[in-house]
Amino acid sequence: MPLTLHVDAAAWRAHLAEVLDANPGLVPVIKGNGYGFGVARLAAEARRLRVPTVAVGVPAEVSLVRQNFDGDIVVLEPWHPALSAPRFDDPRVIRTLAHPEAVAALAGTNHRVLVELRTAMQRHGFLPPLPTGRVRSEGYALHLPLEGDGVAEAERTLRAAGVSEGPVWVSHLLGKRLAELRRRVPGVELRPRVGTALWLGDRSSFRARSTVIDVHELPRGTKVGYRQHRMIKPGYLLVLAGGTAHGIALEAPKPVPSLEARAKVLATGTLGAAGLTLSPFTIDGRQRWFAEPPHMQVSLVLLAQDATPPAIGDEVPVEVRMTTATFDRVELV
Ligand SMILES: *Cc1c(COP(=O)(O)O)cnc(C)c1O
Repeated sequence: MPLTLHVDAAAWRAHLAEVLDANPGLVPVIKGNGYGFGVARLAAEARRLRVPTVAVGVPAEVSLVRQNFDGDIVVLEPWHPALSAPRFDDPRVIRTLAHPEAVAALAGTNHRVLVELRTAMQRHGFLPPLPTGRVRSEGYALHLPLEGDGVAEAERTLRAAGVSEGPVWVSHLLGKRLAELRRRVPGVELRPRVGTALWLGDRSSFRARSTVIDVHELPRGTKVGYRQHRMIKPGYLLVLAGGTAHGIALEAPKPVPSLEARAKVLATGTLGAAGLTLSPFTIDGRQRWFAEPPHMQVSLVLLAQDATPPAIGDEVPVEVRMTTATFDRVELV
């Protein structure tokens, strides 16, 4: 009874190859939920792509990537002596340093490191002057905000730190913007770290589908679900694979909508006004309403009586947010 990600492997891989070709030095980022595909799968794809290096978010992700990929692995989260002991002398792992005490702790060791420079992002990194200490540096790392001119911010940060040569690992710069930064800082060797635009850049090459687990035709007024809400109209109650455990219907926090926007929602959706929420499942051509908030592994969804109900075992399209979705199955066809 799975929630499945169907991937058109040829189309998806053609897109991956295209992004790689257009962006020399690209470092695939593999982290979190593996952008919906899973960390192990993406590591195996990176092996197929024959890239020398990938990046993971946190140290715990190294081992799964390591089993499926043969090259170097950068850990993006900066290492600090208060976070873990400095025992990561894995020759394939490159750690990021962003604090003087981290540089001091690793001075004179053979650990491979990147030195992160602070950008307008203000997440991590050194402000000039840069730390002195003999560490085995493989270059500098920059994390750029998505808002604003990333090229200018990268150039400004490098100049302020006096960096004009060697490898510089940057986030989110692709294509023309990457080429523009190359022109502006010709001495450095740019390594763009890319996750979303690589793995999720061709939305048409994959789609999520939910299996229909059960279907019931019910009269108006029937109480349903944990919450025992009554059916407002006669129709079908569908039990669909995909719940909170899969990240279904979880959204990123949004700015609070205005009173006016909320009033509009109340005025338009009758079911919305009845306290229901539009589900991400499409059945018989339309997105349908949740009967109640999703459960751990399934969702209860309402279907009007004049619609054609699916059968148990059918698959229906579901909109998912790929960076929060966990699928039961990823099928490459
Ligand atoms: C996640 C991350 C990236 C890749 O981000 P995408 O938006 O998925 O391309 C690059 N650099 C750092 C430091 C990150 O944390």
